[in-house]
Amino acid sequence: AKDAGRCGYAFYREELTSVAFERVLLESSMRHGLDRQEFVLNYQPQIDMRTGKIHGVEVLVRWEHPDMGLLGPMKFIPAAEELGLIIPLGEWILRTALSRAKAWCEQGHHCGVISVNASAVELQQRNYADRVIAVLDEIGFDPKFFELEVTEGLFLGEFELAAKSLRRLQDYGVAIAIDDFGTGYSSLSYLKRLPIDRLKIDRSFVQDIPGDENDVAITRAVISMAASLQLKVTAEGVETEVQRDFLLGEGCDIAQGYLFARPMPEQEFLFWLENHTPL
Ligand code: C2E
Ligand code: CA
Ligand code: CA
Ligand code: CA
Repeated sequence: AKDAGRCGYAFYREELTSVAFERVLLESSMRHGLDRQEFVLNYQPQIDMRTGKIHGVEVLVRWEHPDMGLLGPMKFIPAAEELGLIIPLGEWILRTALSRAKAWCEQGHHCGVISVNASAVELQQRNYADRVIAVLDEIGFDPKFFELEVTEGLFLGEFELAAKSLRRLQDYGVAIAIDDFGTGYSSLSYLKRLPIDRLKIDRSFVQDIPGDENDVAITRAVISMAASLQLKVTAEGVETEVQRDFLLGEGCDIAQGYLFARPMPEQEFLFWLENHTPL
C-alpha cells in the first residue's frame, strides 16, 4: 500500500510538472500567435425565423496554430483566461469584429447586430466598460448594433463589479445577452439584478426538442419567462426543421444553428450574405 502511495505521489508530481511545462509553452505560443495574427474570426448568422432574414451575427474565434492546425475556442480560451491573455485577445477580437462589421456596412451589406462573447475574466476588469466604449468610439461603431454575450460563470466572481460594467454598457446603448442560459448558477435571482436584454437558450436544451419532454418543458419555461420579463430570446444550436417549427410555435423567433448556417470565415460569410434568400 505504501509503495502504491509513493508511486501515486510520484505520478502526480510528474503530471503537475508536465502540465506546468505545457502552460509555459502555451503562454508563449499564444503571445506570439497574437503578434503574428494567427487568430481568426468566424461569423455565424442569427436568423429571424419568421422572415428567414438575418437578424445578427455571432463572432467566434479560432486559432490557426502553425503546428497544431486549426484550434477551436474550447481548446485555448480556458487557458487564455487562466493566463490573463484573454484580456489582449478579447480586445483584439472586439476591435477586429467591429472594424470588419463597420466595413461590411460601408460596402452596403446588411448584417444587423454584431454579437461578441465576453469572458467572465474580462468582466472582472475594473475598466472593462470603459475599454469597450473606447473601442466603439475609436471605430465609430453605433452601439445600437452591438451586443455582448456573457455567461452565468460571470457571477462566480465579483458580482457587483461585473454588474456595474454591464449597466454602464447598456446605458451606452449596448445590448446584453446571457449565453448558455440555464446551464450555470443562480439563473433566476440575477435576472432582476442585472441589465439584461436577451436570453440565449443553450444548445443542450434545444438539441433534444421536441422528443425530450424535460427539454421541451425547460425551453417553454425560458421562452415564457423571457416574455413576461420583457427580454428577447435566441435559440442556439438549431439543426432541424422540427426544432425550428417547435421554437417558432412557442414564440421564439431568433435562432442560430447549422440548419441556417455554420460559423464561416469572413469571405464565405459575405458570400453567404449576398446569396442568402429568405424563406
Ligand atoms: P457559444 O458562445 O455558446 O457559441 C456557440 C457554439 O456553438 C460555437 O462553438 C458554434 O460553432 C456552435 N454551434 C453553432 N450552431 C451549432 C449547431 O447547430 N450545432 C452544434 N453542434 N454547434 C453549433 P465554438 O465556435 O466552438 O465556440 C465554443 C465556445 O467558445 C463558445 O460557445 C464561447 O463560449 C467560446 N468562444 C467562442 N468565441 C469566443 C470569443 O471570441 N471570446 C470568448 N470569450 N469566448 C469565445
Ligand atoms: Ca455565445
Ligand atoms: Ca451559447
Ligand atoms: Ca457554450
